Amino acid sequence: MNSKITSKQIESDMRRLLRNMDFVSRHPALKHDSAEARRFAEIYQQLGLAWEFLALQCDHRDGWRKLRDGKSACKVCGLIRGAKEQWLLLPRDGKKIIGRHAVPNSKRKFPNRKAATVVNDTIDFHGAKLNVEVLNQHGCNDRWFRKHDWTIAADRLVRLDEDGIEVRFDSHFVGVKLHKHKRGEMPPYSHFVWELPRKFLKKFPVMLEFDKRRQFTGLTIFKPDADKSNPKNRNRK
Ligand SMILES: [Zn+2]
Repeated sequence: MNSKITSKQIESDMRRLLRNMDFVSRHPALKHDSAEARRFAEIYQQLGLAWEFLALQCDHRDGWRKLRDGKSACKVCGLIRGAKEQWLLLPRDGKKIIGRHAVPNSKRKFPNRKAATVVNDTIDFHGAKLNVEVLNQHGCNDRWFRKHDWTIAADRLVRLDEDGIEVRFDSHFVGVKLHKHKRGEMPPYSHFVWELPRKFLKKFPVMLEFDKRRQFTGLTIFKPDADKSNPKNRNRK
């Protein structure tokens, strides 16, 4: 799809579409409940969907027309200003952008996680799964937490799943899980590196990275089953 469709083109496509919608909506067959009327009603729904998709290509930059009920509609596509669009239009080539950098947006304490949710959105992108969840400060529905009046801090949680490995980001931690902890299983041990004996460390496929000033800059984890996840080796025994 050409991403530089002009508003003139959209305007003429839109006019044609609206003429079709008018034609269908005024069709005499609609006066009686018949198979034909149902077919026309179905066509009208389809045209409505086409209108939604066409409106996605409009940047609503040609100004807004005042409506009787005080709302404004785009002069080109007729979208009501401030109305939530149901679909996203993404360019096939180039960088895709969905949403802005969402952060907690209220100092209030919300009664539960659902009410505190600013964003909770997931995308499956060429096989990698990404979830962003942004929450305001909230209480907890869980009975134990409620009794102790716990407050869960506002946070931005980002989770990436790739090839069975999960990376989680929140305000304080970056966590990597190679094996997901199953319910009912004992949670894994957790220690700082300097707390562990050398014989343990020798078995852990981790390299710590630091710079000249001995500032920690990152780490590398060798995937334990890299042979399996490398597509070249997948069929090898
Ligand atoms: Zn528009």
